[in-house]
Amino acid sequence: MRSFADPFAGEDDGANCLRCGYLVEAAREKRGLLTCAACG
Ligand SMILES: [Zn+2]
Repeated sequence: MRSFADPFAGEDDGANCLRCGYLVEAAREKRGLLTCAACG
């Protein structure tokens, strides 16, 4: 099961994939990617 980034949770600042809404991996975020691994 995959988790969603919760914009209302203070300690969870992860971004959500623009395509599917799932949490974008931190490593991908740092590379400037706004989509999850599944969406490419
Ligand atoms: Zn995605």
